Amino acid sequence: MDGYSRALDVAHDHAVGWLDSLDQRPAPPQASIVEVMAALGTDLPDSGCPPEEAVALLARACDPGLTAMASGRFFGFVIGGTHPAALAADWLVSAWDQNSGLRTLTPAHSAVEDIASAWLLDLLGLPSQSAVGFTTGATMANFTGLAAGRDAVLRRAGWDVARRGLTGGPAVRVLVGAERHDTVDVALRYLGLGAPEVVGVDEQGRILPDALDAALGRGDAGPVLVVLQAGNIHSGACDPFVETVQTAHQHGAWVHVDGAFGLWAAASPDHRHLVEGYESADSWATDAHKTLNVPYDSGLCIVRDAGALQSAMGTHGAYLVRDEACQPLDKVPELSRRGRAIPVWAVLRCLGRDGVAELVERLCRHVTAFADALQTLPGVTVLNDVVFTQVCATFGSDERTDEVVKALLADGTTWMTGSTWHGQRVLRISVSNWSTTEADVERCMQAVRRVALAG
Ligand SMILES: *Cc1c(COP(=O)(O)O)cnc(C)c1O
Repeated sequence: MDGYSRALDVAHDHAVGWLDSLDQRPAPPQASIVEVMAALGTDLPDSGCPPEEAVALLARACDPGLTAMASGRFFGFVIGGTHPAALAADWLVSAWDQNSGLRTLTPAHSAVEDIASAWLLDLLGLPSQSAVGFTTGATMANFTGLAAGRDAVLRRAGWDVARRGLTGGPAVRVLVGAERHDTVDVALRYLGLGAPEVVGVDEQGRILPDALDAALGRGDAGPVLVVLQAGNIHSGACDPFVETVQTAHQHGAWVHVDGAFGLWAAASPDHRHLVEGYESADSWATDAHKTLNVPYDSGLCIVRDAGALQSAMGTHGAYLVRDEACQPLDKVPELSRRGRAIPVWAVLRCLGRDGVAELVERLCRHVTAFADALQTLPGVTVLNDVVFTQVCATFGSDERTDEVVKALLADGTTWMTGSTWHGQRVLRISVSNWSTTEADVERCMQAVRRVALAG
């Protein structure tokens, strides 16, 4: 028992020290890969050491090479922090070490997963009979939802892909908006569906319903998947679901929604209108490690027709061959998997319905504060309608914007990423961390002012 206790004490001390340091430490890492490797030592040791020594060395060597992604001043990419309840529950997941693929093997995890699944469907306003798979992230959630969709549209066309594969079967058309996330293309590639047909979008990146309708009308009435988006990574905008889901269904399509962070608009009464009509789709992908602030890695795939998901992901392959409750392993690509539902449950239990809504609204308030403050700076233009958790701004020219992005990283107060949107270089701010405060926003805006007004 001492081996566990001493090693866990070292990990606990380091973790608390690390979390304490987040308020003050620079957002970017302070050591390079080579420096961290040197501190770790690269020669494989012939003889080992006690667990606590290995953990202490790891913590000491890695600390300067860590990026403060969990800090309230990190706004790069779309990166959530780690909520205290979720983090502590995640430690238990590792200590309990439950292989969570089979229901009866671990009643505790299955109970938690059942409750968390029902709460998620309730919070997100999705059909209560849907199956929920706990994946590693939205990439695999997209893959999983689209796998269920691919198999279902082929089944409707009389082709059993589980038995016959794709070769020789009817072609599956896939339609996506021009600003879908890259991981949708990756998922389609994994599924053997190749590159999708691209449909035009408006100035906020929302798919154009008329263009979708026209594109659907052009092809044969064969198997078709339509991928919509809740939460454009540059604008935060959501596709117009009311028109598009109906149009797609009229053409017999399976509709999948990539809502890695945007799906959470549904949990906030103030933002639910953004995803109006999305509940009529067939599958949805989202992340728990973004807006919900569960530690990596945690995604969710939700499929209306549980049998379609089970036949795509289950070990069996046949449609609704079993009538017993769907096993966790029937809903995700993995057989063995960690107890991913546990930290999700913990954060939901800790926040409650109102707390999740407040979390989403707080993230949006901070983004609006950033957008308002950015607009007051000379030469700065906010390019998007700020409707959710994302803002994109230019600083006059591409060169100037890139200079500001670079100078901000060198300053270290905050991390915001540079990107290209609609042919222009932009500074992208994504507010996804539960712990960001108004004071953090003000402190980071001071840094933006400092670098933007210098030079
Ligand atoms: C982050 C993101 C993804 C990919 O999610 P991972 O959790 O990184 O796999 C997919 N779609 C959108 C819109 C995203 O923001």
